[in-house]
Amino acid sequence: MRKFLIAGNWKMNLNRAESVDLATRIVAKMPAPGAVEVGVIPTLLHLEAVRQVIRGHSLQLGAQNVYFEKKGAFTGEVSPAMLKDMGVQYVLAGHSERRHILGESDELVGKKAHAVVAEGLGLILCVGETLDQRKKSETMEIVGRQIETGLAQVDAAAAQAGHLVIAYEPVWAIGTGLTATAAQAQEAHAFIRTKLTEKYGRDTAESIRIQYGGSAKKANAAELLAQKDIDGLLIGGASLMADEFIGIVLAAVAAQSGHGNVA
Ligand code: PEP
Repeated sequence: MRKFLIAGNWKMNLNRAESVDLATRIVAKMPAPGAVEVGVIPTLLHLEAVRQVIRGHSLQLGAQNVYFEKKGAFTGEVSPAMLKDMGVQYVLAGHSERRHILGESDELVGKKAHAVVAEGLGLILCVGETLDQRKKSETMEIVGRQIETGLAQVDAAAAQAGHLVIAYEPVWAIGTGLTATAAQAQEAHAFIRTKLTEKYGRDTAESIRIQYGGSAKKANAAELLAQKDIDGLLIGGASLMADEFIGIVLAAVAAQSGHGNVA
């Protein structure tokens, strides 16, 4: 069974007090643990403050970024071990803002992905095409290459251990208010599952969660989560509002039992 993973990427938003406040309000309204997994991904700077709030609760802690080296003269960077020490459970790699604004290559994303799973942390590998690439019918080619390069050094053991999550995030849908239709998302997710099957075999591929990200919100969560290969949501803007985020979590709880992918 693939349990939905609902994760809120807070990006470069919220000061320390606001981060604590948002985490506090989410924790207060979280449904009983178990049905779905829920996590928040604050700025690295506020990981410790948020960790203190969610300690003892089912809310998980993620990090937005990491460097691939273990230690040394890499000013401004943080290692996977540092994140683990901070109580982080999973790390984003390949988010489109890091690829397209900060210039991260597929190869760099692949190195980060390897470093994350080598440390025993969970990896959320983000992939997705730009609008221009979609218009040129290059979606599957781009996503396929991002999967291949991103996972080049992520072996089946990591995937089987549940350390691997993919997030399909069409760049044109991130922060734009545009959402991929459920059919567009399902088509991309099914393609990603095929790529995962080629690499890891059917059983492992069937166990890997593929999240959708791109202007997901309470109003469209149920329809997206009803798709066979959509196993959760990675949420930006809507995750900054406790009620909206909890609304998505509740939609996921309602959708989980009827989800076509539950074995
Ligand atoms: C994201 O940044 O991963 C994202 C999906 O953002 P938004 O929900 O704001 O589109």
